[in-house]
Amino acid sequence: MTYRIITIDGPAGAGKTTVSKLLAETLGCVRVDTGALYRAVAFEIDRQQTAWKNDDALDLFLSGLDLNVVLENEEMRVLSSGKDITPFIRTPEITLLASATSARPAVRAALLDIQRRIARQQDAVFEGRDMGTVVFPDATVKFFLVADLAVRAKRRFDEMPDTAKELSRIQADMAARDDQDTRRTRAPLKPAPDAILIDSSRLTAPQVVEEMRHHL
Ligand code: C5P
Repeated sequence: MTYRIITIDGPAGAGKTTVSKLLAETLGCVRVDTGALYRAVAFEIDRQQTAWKNDDALDLFLSGLDLNVVLENEEMRVLSSGKDITPFIRTPEITLLASATSARPAVRAALLDIQRRIARQQDAVFEGRDMGTVVFPDATVKFFLVADLAVRAKRRFDEMPDTAKELSRIQADMAARDDQDTRRTRAPLKPAPDAILIDSSRLTAPQVVEEMRHHL
C-alpha cells in the first residue's frame, strides 16, 4: 500500500516547521522533521569528537550510529542509542555543524533508509531540504517554501528565548547556512522540477496552509 507523502523543502526560516505542523494537524497525519536527524548526527559527531572530514573515521562513526525517531502526535523526538537527545540539537553550534556535516555523502546515505522507512508506514508530511528531489522523488505533492532573508532571520530571532541573541548574527549565520546547503554537490537545496513554489514572506502560516490545500 502506498501512503500519501507530502514534502516541504526550503531554506531555514522559510516557515517549514510551523507550516508542516499545521498541515499535518489539518490532514490528521504525522510530520517528520528531517533536519532533526542531521542535527542528531552533528550532535553525536560533536559528542564523540569524530574527525568527520576523514572518510574512515566518518564511516566508523556511522556504522556505530543508532538513531531512531518517535512520533508522538505532531512532536518528533530523536533517540540516539535509546536516549532522547531532542533537547540538545538546537544550539547555534550544532546548527552550523549539521549544515557542514550534512554535505558528506556518507551522512546523507546513512539517513536515507530511516526517512523512507517512516514513509512506508503511514501518511506523512516530510520537511527538509531534499525531500522532493532525492528522498521522495515520487511524493504525492511537493512544496518549496521561500521567504526573504531578512524576514526569515527576524522569525528566528522572535522564536529565540535567549536575551543575548543578535539579529545581525542570526541573519549572517542563516546566510552562511543557506549558502552551504545550496552549493553542496550532494542533494543541494533546490526545488524539484514539479514542486509548487510558495513565498511566505508576506503570509501567515495558516495562509500558507490554505494555499497548500488548494493543491491537495
Ligand atoms: O531544518 P534544519 O534547519 O533543522 O536543518 C539543519 C541542517 O540539516 C540544514 O542546514 C541542512 O544542512 C541539513 N538538512 C539537510 N537535509 C534535510 C534536512 C536538513 O541537509 N533534508
